[in-house]
Amino acid sequence: MEFYIIPDKEALSRCAWCQRQINDDMEVFGFGAKLKPNVDLSEYESHCIEIGLVSEEKPVYMMVTAQGSEAKSEGKDGMFLVCSEGCGKKLKNFLEKEISLGKMFKTVWHE
Ligand SMILES: [Zn+2]
Repeated sequence: MEFYIIPDKEALSRCAWCQRQINDDMEVFGFGAKLKPNVDLSEYESHCIEIGLVSEEKPVYMMVTAQGSEAKSEGKDGMFLVCSEGCGKKLKNFLEKEISLGKMFKTVWHE
C-alpha cells in the first residue's frame, strides 16, 4: 500500500476528519486504530498519512505510531486527532464501516 505523507507541520494542526485547522487553545480528541496484520506501514512510522476509505471519497489523516511509543505498546498502529466530538463520531462511524468492508483496519476505539 502506498500513501501520501502529509508534512508534519500541517498534519499536526489539522482535524483528521474535516481538515479544519486546530488551534492550541482548542480541545482536541484522539483515538487509536489497529491495522490488519498484513498491513505494513512501517515505512510511514511517526508520519501522518492521508488514507482513503472504501466507504467514503474523502481523505482522512492518520498518524502512524512509531515502534517503542506508548500508543504502539497499547496496540495502536494509527492515531486520529479530531477537532470535536462530532468529527470523532463521524470518523469512527466510517472507520467501523471500513473495518467491515476494507482491507486496512482491524479495530478502532475511543480513548
Ligand atoms: Zn473536525
